[in-house]
Amino acid sequence: MIPVIALVGRPNVGKSTLFNQLTRSRDALVADLPGLTRDRQYGIGRVGGFPYMVVDTGGLSGEDATMDAAMAQQTRQAIREADLVLLLVDARSGLTAQDQAIASDLRAEGVRALLVANKTDGLDIDSATAEFHALGLGAIAPIAAAHGRGVSQLMQRVHDALAPNGDDGAADPGTALDRWPGIRVALVGRPNAGKSTLINRLLGEERVLATPIAGTTRDSIFIPFQRDGQDYTLIDTAGVRRRARVHDAVEKFSVVKTLQAIDAAHVVIMVLDAQAGIADQDAHLLGMVLDAGRALVLAVNKWDGLDPDVRERVRLDLERKLGFLRFARMRLVSALHGTNVGHLLDDVREAHASAFVELSTPQLSRLLESAVAEHAPPLVGHRRIKLRYAHQGGQNPPVIVIHGNQTESLPGSYRRFLENFFRTHLRLVGTPLRLEFRSGK
Ligand code: GDP
Ligand code: GDP
Repeated sequence: MIPVIALVGRPNVGKSTLFNQLTRSRDALVADLPGLTRDRQYGIGRVGGFPYMVVDTGGLSGEDATMDAAMAQQTRQAIREADLVLLLVDARSGLTAQDQAIASDLRAEGVRALLVANKTDGLDIDSATAEFHALGLGAIAPIAAAHGRGVSQLMQRVHDALAPNGDDGAADPGTALDRWPGIRVALVGRPNAGKSTLINRLLGEERVLATPIAGTTRDSIFIPFQRDGQDYTLIDTAGVRRRARVHDAVEKFSVVKTLQAIDAAHVVIMVLDAQAGIADQDAHLLGMVLDAGRALVLAVNKWDGLDPDVRERVRLDLERKLGFLRFARMRLVSALHGTNVGHLLDDVREAHASAFVELSTPQLSRLLESAVAEHAPPLVGHRRIKLRYAHQGGQNPPVIVIHGNQTESLPGSYRRFLENFFRTHLRLVGTPLRLEFRSGK
């Protein structure tokens, strides 16, 4: 799975600045979706074709008191789950007692750490960083995060640390994932939503092809199974099979693992708890799924014992809190009783087919033509915006590239009209759809 790098350090050393540097290269698929709660703490980035996940741990050590308990717990967990911790220090203010406390904390946790001296802009690097050798963390990586200086050298060192044999190919988790058969499905959701129950229900009903295999040294497990002739691999973040006796759901929940599973999946089943309603954490998780551009099925669990109008209520609640997500199928299920659980896999299959749809240039260009005939693009000044032809630019999620003139002036409302038009006519369900515009002149 995608390697995890945790940024640690006292407040103001530049963690969020570095976080932004490392994650901003990623195209924001859903940047302008209203109501999306963005988690500024977890992000996915790519340097030189090497993908990784970055966690900004916020304030660690001494700051714990000001964080709420759940966040502090997730911070500690993120550090333990990280493949590599970057300890940031401030080259301008010099070594502090707090830096020392954090360094010894990291040593006590037994994690691999790399020391990063930030804010070296305008300083003599050797003399500014000399005193930090006292932290005993080995070679220091000097950077100026605000200016992006030293960041790619830093990531090269991260890359070397994670792939010590200089084995570039093996470091790409994408290729390693291909050995899992069929549609890779991640079940995500907040603690107690019913993920473990649902996984057991899915597997209990189906023939398990292989014994669960640990996907990584951490806890997510890959479980291949088959149903109606279709291969699937379940990515189990809850660690049900191995840790069935962990009763504290909060304890087994991990944002890091969840994000890794989303990244590794083709389709995400987001498990919502109908009885508890939609919480902020659900919105965060959905934001992560959308950020990753993953196909999505909503499983509204614990339907048993609820009024039949719950579907409308949950849908309204989702819309009010999120203002989007019309594209995903919503299935009311009871993991406990097995109601509708089988249908979830139909939804997964449908979402997967939509995410990996292949579209020809003539087909897309014809559709574009009918869209424009139905609703012409607006005038800019005296000239009408022209949309000429369209072709497919990618899969999972599908990308439609539209060529024309002055496309940069297309208003958001028209972009949304086009997206809906393509979505409806191509019958895309359960996948985000990305439109890109190219202007000839
Ligand atoms: P965090 O609390 O560790 O997340 O720190 P921030 O990223 O919020 O940065 C704290 C302050 O340091 C901000 O005012 C940044 O603009 C500043 N800063 C971050 N990186 C650099 C740098 O490379 N050089 C300088 N001179 N200032 C920086
Ligand atoms: P996880 O933390 O997401 O893995 O959640 P669990 O699968 O451990 O379930 C949390 C609790 O919700 C357990 O007590 C389950 O028995 C209960 N639960 C799960 N699914 C259902 C359901 O469909 N209906 C009801 N009433 N309870 C459920």
